Amino acid sequence: MVKSRLHHYQNWIFDWSGTLVDDLAMVLDATNHVLRIYGKDEIEREDFRMSFRLPYAGYYEEILPGVPLDELEDHFREGFAKSEASGVTSPLLPYALDFLESLQSKDKRIFILSSMDAGAFDRHAVELGIDHFFEATYAGILDKRNQIHLMLEKHALDASNTVFLGDMCHDVETAKHGGVASIALLTGYQNAEQLGAASPDLLVEDLSVIHPWLEAPTSKNNS
Ligand SMILES: [Mg+2]
Repeated sequence: MVKSRLHHYQNWIFDWSGTLVDDLAMVLDATNHVLRIYGKDEIEREDFRMSFRLPYAGYYEEILPGVPLDELEDHFREGFAKSEASGVTSPLLPYALDFLESLQSKDKRIFILSSMDAGAFDRHAVELGIDHFFEATYAGILDKRNQIHLMLEKHALDASNTVFLGDMCHDVETAKHGGVASIALLTGYQNAEQLGAASPDLLVEDLSVIHPWLEAPTSKNNS
């Protein structure tokens, strides 16, 4: 994928955490709530960013071996709600709203594919006023690689006309698995070195970098 082709893509699938919203503070609070329940030391923000990975089942098996995933997820939800109740917020990332509005104005189809708890996602998307952008949303997905094929099939999405945007290696791997283009963003949990190792089609600082490329090039040489 080259930037001059970007405006051709009709189907835009977004990850949620670290791609459209900055929810690291709440996710870290929720993770530390889980760790405390099992008598483990809390994890610092940067250590969490360096070590957290998707699918999160593997991450939790490493730090809390043998604890059933549904039990962990229940505690995670409690911790997330507690963080929210204490006043911690998960704001939209800069440029996210402008980007979604541009896509909508160009009649692009927009989807969500996220591992975030489905209840928390539904609530936040409404609170942030952006739920209306999405044709369909898939949240609480443990392994996105399995889900992307189901999405392409269910919504009749042509893979060659579809792009997946995310902030983690698992997002890039998911895009490759589905045969769709991948854009990795440095607005979330993983850094340039980590994401670069997954070889995304594009690796950019944030959505403002690719926003201008949604417009068809005006020069004949670029088309
Ligand atoms: Mg993410």
